[in-house]
Amino acid sequence: MSHDACSLLGKSWYDYENFHIDWSQDTDRYEVVRRLGGGKYSEVFEGIDTVTSDRCVIKVLKPVAPKKIKREIKVLRNLCGLPSPNVIGLLDVVQSRGNPSLVMEYVENVEWKRLFPRLTAPEIQYYTSQLLLALSAVHDVGIIHRDIKPANIMIDVKQRKLRLIDWGLAEFYHPNVDYHIRVGSRYYKAPELLVGYKRYDYSLDMWSVGCMFASMIFRKEHFFRGSDNDDQLLKIMKTLGTEEFDSYLKTYNIHFETEIDSLLINYPKQPWTRFITAENRHLASSDALDLLGKLLRYDHHERLTSKEAEAHPYFNSIRLEASGKTDSASDSGFGST
Ligand code: AMP
Repeated sequence: MSHDACSLLGKSWYDYENFHIDWSQDTDRYEVVRRLGGGKYSEVFEGIDTVTSDRCVIKVLKPVAPKKIKREIKVLRNLCGLPSPNVIGLLDVVQSRGNPSLVMEYVENVEWKRLFPRLTAPEIQYYTSQLLLALSAVHDVGIIHRDIKPANIMIDVKQRKLRLIDWGLAEFYHPNVDYHIRVGSRYYKAPELLVGYKRYDYSLDMWSVGCMFASMIFRKEHFFRGSDNDDQLLKIMKTLGTEEFDSYLKTYNIHFETEIDSLLINYPKQPWTRFITAENRHLASSDALDLLGKLLRYDHHERLTSKEAEAHPYFNSIRLEASGKTDSASDSGFGST
């Protein structure tokens, strides 16, 4: 579909403010089993659907703007009504003791902090391609996730299943619209958010994919780990260099002012091979580094789109596997020890 998919799909697709939420009346149907976590906007529980006896996840939303609740539900309803592979399923919406709650598909997730350091090269290839599959489908229908990070990717290693969760910051994309820059999670924030450029698009998610991919192939918990937004930009500049940063600002006429001296120093661009160590050498193949270099670009227009990334030679063996010519990428070792 086109870059401006929302216009093609029409107002009923993207006009979440006028969307009527059909809250389920059956408030006792889902029972809480245990707390899984929580954050600024919600508390998340494992639950049970007493009608089907299936496990589920109950995300109880904290009192936030009704507009934000509508947006999250509309995005999930839209995506679940389409073939959107690897997007978490929204099963129901209920008001539990007055709190709006989303009932979602449960994933037997292995926590990423434990999983990522153990992923094999074929597993990184596989799960990255599954993430791109989700993003291609989502971007194709005019939606940006805006909070891609390891904690929002649920992975069930036994079933080789990946699901993209937490659509609370997701937004419908319209050309020539200024968007909020206070989105995302610091280590995964794209340069446009750090320099205050508001006309971003789907490529925002692709930066975050690049950060995640770098953390996986270099075996670093977070690839760019800034202590605040300025320091985040500094970490990026120390890797990508200042020359391209300056031309990026020029291209988009971005007036970036800072009082941080270290942001004004010239840093050379680092070759990706600089991050190779004895521990990650088997993961950081030349194809992997080439893909990474095409995702982590300051200029959002230069980043690969999700579809382009899917077509990158790094995924060739997966494509061969899918077409039945080889099964070399299927020897997952995770979880078997
Ligand atoms: P969140 O507040 O959205 O980060 O969710 C808190 C935690 O709940 C996450 O870190 C996950 O471990 C877990 N979680 C969220 N959604 C699911 C899901 N659909 N299946 C399994 N675990 C989930």
